[in-house]
Amino acid sequence: MSQIPAPLIDPARLQALLGPARGRFDVDALAECGSTSSLLMERATRGAPSGSVLVADRQTAGRGRRGRHWLSSPESGLTFSVLWRFDGDLGRLAGLSLVVGIAVRRALAGCGVPGIKLKWPNDLLLDDGKLGGILVELQSERNSMLAVIGIGLNLELPATDAERLPFGQPVAALAQAIFPLPDRHDLLAAILIALAAVLDQFSAAGFTALRSEWQSYNAWQNRPVRLLRDGLVEMEGICRGADVDGALLIGSDTGIERCLSGDLSLRAA
Ligand code: ATP
Repeated sequence: MSQIPAPLIDPARLQALLGPARGRFDVDALAECGSTSSLLMERATRGAPSGSVLVADRQTAGRGRRGRHWLSSPESGLTFSVLWRFDGDLGRLAGLSLVVGIAVRRALAGCGVPGIKLKWPNDLLLDDGKLGGILVELQSERNSMLAVIGIGLNLELPATDAERLPFGQPVAALAQAIFPLPDRHDLLAAILIALAAVLDQFSAAGFTALRSEWQSYNAWQNRPVRLLRDGLVEMEGICRGADVDGALLIGSDTGIERCLSGDLSLRAA
């Protein structure tokens, strides 16, 4: 009978690395699941507490936005989801996917990986290649909002099968920027510590408090960009950062336009 391998993350070892965030996260590790975000959302509806984390070596149905797939393998990726509850209603969560990017960037910088940029609304870039993706899913509860924050990071370049899963954009991996790679426990602990700090700041003061930090790492700040909908160009202009609610700001001859639609994809022009 074949044995199921132990997950690459050992929750006890991880807890010991959480420092100031110890006690704020409850980490579960699986060798395999469909999607960590789907499973964590199910657990949330059954009462899992804020700070629950689910990390899986292999996701058989890892997700991006709009039903797209996230591809990773156990050795090449770090994929996990975090459940967080926020007081108030949906309006309080504007800009959440952007601030999660800030937390991951801070953590990676602290682990010795410089040069990470943020792409509106939910990607981490390294040398203009996609290093990681963030997927935030929200659900309202009685007096609060529930967020499941999924994060996928490439440690090594994922093996691609262009026929089955074409990458729409260049892909990047941490291994391009740092050698040796940080231990995955250190990396995950650093991200969770940064996430707790950023989410506290966000809960207290909203995206406004983190907006200038986001803009200083915005991949295309003050550069020409185009916005695509279903592959077709919807708007072109100069990227002027994000508004107080996380909306993308695009400048053109006619002024500054705000873009909030989750159906839009941003590209360098
Ligand atoms: P957008 O620019 O519209 O945000 P996106 O292509 O970044 O689009 P996401 O939903 O954020 O879309 O992520 C899913 C997409 O990411 C997939 O369609 C695929 O092109 C790409 N992708 C999947 N796995 C990986 C990976 N491991 N590394 C980099 N890119 C990946």
